[in-house]
Amino acid sequence: MSRLVVVSNRTADPRKAAAGGLAVAVKESLQQTGGLWFGWSGKIHDESEHDAGYQDLRAQTVGNVTLATIDLSQRDYDTYYLGYSNDVLWPVFHYRLDLANFDVDFAAGYRRVNRLFAQKLMPLLKPDDLIWVHDYHLIPLAAELRAMGCRNRIGFFLHVPMPPLEIMAAVPEHEWLMRSLFAYDLVGFQSETDVTHFTHYVQSEAQAEQLSHDRLRAFNRTLRIGAYPIGIDVDEVVNLAQAKEGRDTFERMREEYSRRRLLLGVDRLDYSKGLPQRIHAFRELLAQYPENRSSATLIQIASPSREAVGAYDDLRRQMDSLCGAINGDYGELDWMPVRYIHRNVARKRLPGLYRASRVALVTPLRDGMNLVAKEFVAAQDPADPGMLVLSRFAGAAEQLKEALMVNPYDAHGTAQAIQRALSMPLEERIQRHEALMSRIRKHDVHWWSSSFLHALKHVEQDQGLDHNAKSGQSERDTRA
Ligand code: ADP
Repeated sequence: MSRLVVVSNRTADPRKAAAGGLAVAVKESLQQTGGLWFGWSGKIHDESEHDAGYQDLRAQTVGNVTLATIDLSQRDYDTYYLGYSNDVLWPVFHYRLDLANFDVDFAAGYRRVNRLFAQKLMPLLKPDDLIWVHDYHLIPLAAELRAMGCRNRIGFFLHVPMPPLEIMAAVPEHEWLMRSLFAYDLVGFQSETDVTHFTHYVQSEAQAEQLSHDRLRAFNRTLRIGAYPIGIDVDEVVNLAQAKEGRDTFERMREEYSRRRLLLGVDRLDYSKGLPQRIHAFRELLAQYPENRSSATLIQIASPSREAVGAYDDLRRQMDSLCGAINGDYGELDWMPVRYIHRNVARKRLPGLYRASRVALVTPLRDGMNLVAKEFVAAQDPADPGMLVLSRFAGAAEQLKEALMVNPYDAHGTAQAIQRALSMPLEERIQRHEALMSRIRKHDVHWWSSSFLHALKHVEQDQGLDHNAKSGQSERDTRA
């Protein structure tokens, strides 16, 4: 059996409880076959110390999984991570050209670190290893590996949305980035919409030929593509909701809010999540439906995220001010409409909190998938489930059709949907929950990793590995 090699920006210690869907899925697939997980250690080396060994590989084996990590220099961190990944690709892939900072040094740093990853990984590879690369930080990694002679099967999964051509084309290096994807054998996206955007891009910009529904030919290479919507570990969430911390949290919340109706938002504090728009919609709910005053309470948990990137500072200030205003305008001595908590909640407590809430507000302006939506559904009591209000712009909306779908830009419409969710009869809630649960179970995280890896294993490998995906054009495009 081939060994699995996973490459992602960060790795996670397989001995610790995995935080989030990606870590759970990767850990599970790695443990099945034994394998290698390669990425950045999260550490920054001080270049001024002139310690030549700073980019040395550190390897640690736990059971049948080896974790191999490298440190980055301050310059790499600033340009590759903060710069190109989080200040260019993250905003652009979430359709926010207005927030992107197209700095030539960022692009050069991105390319340099992808090459460094390839250089450090290449000596560790065996000929029949199956390589799975994750996310927007590492788009050109396969092209760099191919240039070094790597002929392994390499798959790529994009966790964020794929924007339409008109947005992608604004990135100065767009042609190089999209061409780089053709150095992979399989590229997976979160949704059919993403697949359509990518197909349209390469057909229009690179005269790609569509050989079949999942095969594209361009740049002298054939690429398999597909939608593999990421799922959750359903049983883990169900069990956590029943376990001690889950039950404690549930009971405490139920007692505390026995006379109220609890609404919940759980997000990273990120501009893609539509948090200010959500507060506006909640305000609209209180204005339009006064029966919710002194009753409906929104707990909004927003975990700190990428605080070194400027746009996040602005968002934090905006949220502080919106939440302060709604509490000042509508609050009573014994009731605050919004409880805004800028912190992480322990993973073991989240399912209990989900279960105690009548309604979840998952209203991103744009999201690759959104796992909170799926976790909320999985944590509900099937006999008295809470209702999910979901943005049509989350990748999850393609699957979770029985949620109440909203346009997060439309505060009035979102308020109406929240009101409907709050007053939905038990029978309808049960029916919708059953349907949602069966979709979440069918396409869970185990399905996601096994179906992607099955497709990668069986992809007909293009022998035209002439490294065209890494052309002279790319050098110019990234001004490396
Ligand atoms: P993203 O990957 O953009 O952060 P997702 O909703 O897909 O969004 O995944 C977020 C993961 O992180 C989920 O598993 C969720 O439970 C967890 N999470 C998000 N916000 C918090 C928070 N404030 N506290 C604890 N866990 C959180």
